Amino acid sequence: MEILDILILGSGPAALCLASELAKQDLKIKGVSTKSPNEKWENTYGIWASELEELGLESLLSHRWCETVSFFGNGETKKGNIPTKHNYDYGLINQEAFQNELLKKCKGIEWLNETAKDIIEKNNLSEVICFSGLKIKARLVIDASGHKSKFVKRPIQKKIAQQAAYGIVGKFSSPPVNKEQFVLMDFRPNHLNNEEKLSSPSFLYAMDLGDETFFVEETSLASYPALSQDNLKKRLFKRLDNKGIKVNEILHEENCLFPMNLPLPIKKQFVLGFGGAASMVHPASGYMIGSLLRRAPLLAEKLASFLKEPHLSSQELATKGWNVLWPNELTRRHKLYQYGLQRLMSFDESRLRSFFSNFFKLSTKEWVGFLTNTLPLPKLIYVMSKMFINSPLKVKLGMLNLN
Ligand SMILES: Cc1cc2nc3c(=O)[nH]c(=O)nc-3n(C[C@H](O)[C@H](O)[C@H](O)COP(=O)(O)OP(=O)(O)OC[C@H]3O[C@@H](n4cnc5c(N)ncnc54)[C@H](O)[C@@H]3O)c2cc1C
Repeated sequence: MEILDILILGSGPAALCLASELAKQDLKIKGVSTKSPNEKWENTYGIWASELEELGLESLLSHRWCETVSFFGNGETKKGNIPTKHNYDYGLINQEAFQNELLKKCKGIEWLNETAKDIIEKNNLSEVICFSGLKIKARLVIDASGHKSKFVKRPIQKKIAQQAAYGIVGKFSSPPVNKEQFVLMDFRPNHLNNEEKLSSPSFLYAMDLGDETFFVEETSLASYPALSQDNLKKRLFKRLDNKGIKVNEILHEENCLFPMNLPLPIKKQFVLGFGGAASMVHPASGYMIGSLLRRAPLLAEKLASFLKEPHLSSQELATKGWNVLWPNELTRRHKLYQYGLQRLMSFDESRLRSFFSNFFKLSTKEWVGFLTNTLPLPKLIYVMSKMFINSPLKVKLGMLNLN
């Protein structure tokens, strides 16, 4: 039986980001995925434009907004409806162009349309067993099969908080957001009842897509248990209804649900992960694409050098890989973000509005660095401390769990 250097599971953004970097190395690689890598991705991926610019990939944006705002007021008074201006460009990724760009770089990698059922470790190698009965051996298996991966081992945690959202791309009786505007978070709570305000606030993420078409999405940042799609759908329609806006046509529906606080994987295991499977979603925002693009090149380069040592077993290779993916610096930052998210999940809508309104008073460099996870640990600690010191007492008490 042929022995590959690397077998990648999945063909989503994580699999293709890493495969496109691994393809530059002189390695025998194959991919196994339930969906063909040519099948169009379904999710709408948003990103801060600078994250693509830094990589020279800004041409992959299908839309770009300069007028980027949020609303953290109560929505009742004139003052309570004033937007917070971010003055920082945000964009939507052209999924097809992004996928094709990555696939072009995956030269020489064959993808098998199969679903992995099990992975076993045998004689220092890994063997993937597919539902069809096909068996494939590799020195290292990289699991990029998404958040629901069952092959990556991590500490057991019962309460996994989920980000949930229900959104529609459609035509409306009047514009739900201003022309050429992108709304990161509209936290005005007018449409929520008291119970919802207290225990499960949600916000609107919305954008003008041009041609009288808008994307509006009711989003719960993170909660356990997750808010249901039905609940979010009702809230979205109530929010629109409150503004006297009717939906004339639905062109696309988006149902979003993924974990925000999956524990970090155990490093001593024989499978390496990447993407959702490797807990790489930003624990405070739910974003991941920028991080995949930034972290894939180093991991690919390091794996190629580890694979030059023929005596290394799958477990030794995977453990080395996990150490590159989750070094101490990133692990500590992750812990800080997780602490912050845990506290935010206990906030009612008024405290959340207060928190975010204060957060965006940080300098642009600071809040962008926080949201893209690009601040070195000492700077992240400094920014979080600054945010804490400048926040109102009720937010301070909430952050310290002294409610
Ligand atoms: C609706 C939605 C919207 C999102 N929006 C954003 C956003 O705007 N910006 C952002 O940065 N992040 C966003 N995210 C978060 C994150 O970027 C996505 O979840 C992203 O798709 C995760 O990429 P992935 O490649 O790890 O997993 P997936 O995209 O889930 O891909 C998994 C792949 O593995 C395959 N697979 C699964 N099981 C097996 C198996 N057993 N064997 C073989 N193949 C298998 C699947 O067919 C698929 O190809 C969003 C998430 C969702 C759900």
